[in-house]
Amino acid sequence: MSDILISAKELSVHFPLRGFTFGERPVVRACQGINLDIPKGSFVGLVGESGSGKTTLGRAMLKAAPISEGSVTFTDTDVTYDLATLDGQELKDYRKRAQLIFQDPYAALSPRMTVRDIIAEPLEVMKITKTREETDARVREIAAMCRLNLEHLRRFPHAFSGGQRQRISIARALVSDPHFIVADESVAALDVSIQADVLNLLRSIQEQNHITFLFISHDLSVIAHTCDFVAVMYLGNIVEAAPTRKLFSETAHPYTKALLSAIPSLDPDDQHKAEKLEGEIPSPINPPPGCRFHTRCRFAKDRCKTEVPEWREMSEGHSVACHFAEELA
Ligand code: SF4
Repeated sequence: MSDILISAKELSVHFPLRGFTFGERPVVRACQGINLDIPKGSFVGLVGESGSGKTTLGRAMLKAAPISEGSVTFTDTDVTYDLATLDGQELKDYRKRAQLIFQDPYAALSPRMTVRDIIAEPLEVMKITKTREETDARVREIAAMCRLNLEHLRRFPHAFSGGQRQRISIARALVSDPHFIVADESVAALDVSIQADVLNLLRSIQEQNHITFLFISHDLSVIAHTCDFVAVMYLGNIVEAAPTRKLFSETAHPYTKALLSAIPSLDPDDQHKAEKLEGEIPSPINPPPGCRFHTRCRFAKDRCKTEVPEWREMSEGHSVACHFAEELA
């Protein structure tokens, strides 16, 4: 039996732009040639700037973004799905097994529904429970797991703080008993003091229920404290991936180094070490040739402008796409 729950192979997600009647339609190349294996029961972090394509990759793994090229394969204990061709009853079944936790706990919850109804809705829409008693029992079970009181279930979302609302969103995502969850910037909208509480909750739920998480964040310090394995994305490509400790101790890609150096330090002597990332991330409609990072990389050489770096394993579990990774590590 495979230890990999979900696997992307040479995955590309392209969005042709609308409204162009003459000539070739511009295409947003949100993800290009991505390879990523997510082991069962792991907590994998996906990090990168805004516009790097991480949300699109997460959605492609939920069959919520089109798979233009390549494949995404989901292998559970009893079934294997090819997401590129998944539809009908199999797609409905996949929706139970794979869920999303949204970024914004304020926008994600209907203000007109009670917390009980918000959490119960997936059970009713997916016809998972058959009676109201069964639904209520499952809602109470999940509410307790997410540290919500029973009296909270009668209230409306406006009565709750940001952290409590995010716990309601997490309960809603968990209620169908998924095996895979994409958490997309799930703590980004919360105060720092609340972030730790929600991260600890996600981690304990993952460990108790053996759920596999893809945790998307622009903040490498959040990823460092939460994830077992990290993939770094830049302009539609994964540029480096490694177990978390290795990524921090044996960083090889200049983009990962720049993200790491941007983590604020309490030590004033650390400030001079910051490798400032210059310029903006280029447009995914017209990405630079060769290494996509060459327009912002201070180590770029002529070769980087024309030749796409090969995705290769540097050491066990540590892969990188940079022509000069060994020299720069
Ligand atoms: Fe920088 Fe060249 Fe490596 Fe790309 S391949 S990250 S441009 S050194």
